Amino acid sequence: MTRNVDRRILCDTHTHTLFSRHSYSTVEECVRAAAERGLELYGATDHYSAMLYPEHNGRHDVRDFQFFMNYEVWPREWHGVQVMHGCEADIVDLEGHLFGWDVPVTHTLGGDVRWNETTLKKTVFRDCDYVVASVHGQDFAKGASTAQVTEMYIRALDDPKVLMLGHIGRTGLPIDVDAVVTAARDRGKLIEINETSLGRPGNTGRCRNIAERCAELGCCVAVNTDAHIATDIGRFDLSIALFDEIDFPQELVANRDAAAFRAALVAAGL
Ligand SMILES: [Zn+2]
Ligand SMILES: [Zn+2]
Repeated sequence: MTRNVDRRILCDTHTHTLFSRHSYSTVEECVRAAAERGLELYGATDHYSAMLYPEHNGRHDVRDFQFFMNYEVWPREWHGVQVMHGCEADIVDLEGHLFGWDVPVTHTLGGDVRWNETTLKKTVFRDCDYVVASVHGQDFAKGASTAQVTEMYIRALDDPKVLMLGHIGRTGLPIDVDAVVTAARDRGKLIEINETSLGRPGNTGRCRNIAERCAELGCCVAVNTDAHIATDIGRFDLSIALFDEIDFPQELVANRDAAAFRAALVAAGL
């Protein structure tokens, strides 16, 4: 048990708004909650995933994802909180591809034919400050070996917009923790310690092991609530208790304050 360590975490950088459909608060409610909790920085990372809308005629439609395409109207400071916006992109195959990488966008939101075809992923990522890469639907990884899943996560980290891997302790997929943590560290990227995962039975040991390996190998982490309602924003109780228990170095918590988080973005090339 460490004493006299300032364990405050002043940024919540993986959270959801109404746009995620199984999440319940507006952007403003989330920002206000962040302000009330004394956070310096709030990051909205709604699901960018096949879970949002079904395909139309066998293809995802850019119009279902336009939430991500007008981020420029968001204030950068709101209720005294610095605001960032990105997305939580699903990893969709063992090659580590992110959702929409193979979905062509042939029309503008207004319905005109685009002169240059692009992909849904490029269109969504363009205005994201950063991306959290996570596994949700995992049928594609059924029966995959530890080496395959490890490689999948490392390739996802190689996407230039990906800042962190989301909740790797939750999926139950087999990974070589040291290899994934080392790959994140060497790329200046982050491993997430996910408060919601810590609250689910069965995950604690795995999350604890990941945190311990990050501490040992010198990899920075982001501690996030993954809040799906405003009242959960900025509540890091389980993560802080875990960090106290394992004496986690506070300097490795990349979102301990806004300045540290912005430095982490720069370190990751974002
Ligand atoms: Zn969700
Ligand atoms: Zn999430």
